[in-house]
Amino acid sequence: MNKTLMNKKKKIALIAHDNRKQDLLNWVKANEDELSKHEFFGTGTTSKLISENTKLEVHGFLSGPLGGDIQIGSHIVEGNIDILIFFWDPLQSQPHDPDVKALLRIAVLNDIPTSTNIASADFMLNSPLMNEEYQRVIIDYSSRLSRKG
Ligand code: PGA
Repeated sequence: MNKTLMNKKKKIALIAHDNRKQDLLNWVKANEDELSKHEFFGTGTTSKLISENTKLEVHGFLSGPLGGDIQIGSHIVEGNIDILIFFWDPLQSQPHDPDVKALLRIAVLNDIPTSTNIASADFMLNSPLMNEEYQRVIIDYSSRLSRKG
């Protein structure tokens, strides 16, 4: 097992599909003071929306359909993102659904706390662990990787 230490100040990725952006913005506004203790990243349009409408600074990657989800996944793999808040749309398929699936897979693989709706984001933000150091445990999957050829 590999362990990765998350600092008290968390690096949080914010993503919302178009039909969920208002929900995410409302949630961020309602929790702005608590969230301001942390550091933020996001896909292009989501990060712009949050930056322009709150006092949080959000480092923006590309828009999701243009590769932003994959960029966030890559930062998770490199240990540069601790938490994922991803309000994805359960009622509409997306042009980049394979990227969405890849990001969620990488989040599970790296033991990233992930919120996909308002209630799970509320529970996460109100956990005392949000403001403490925490050791994520990354299971060593190497014995399960098949080697062919
Ligand atoms: P967006 O991307 O923030 O650029 O809209 C989100 C997504 O669709 O993954």
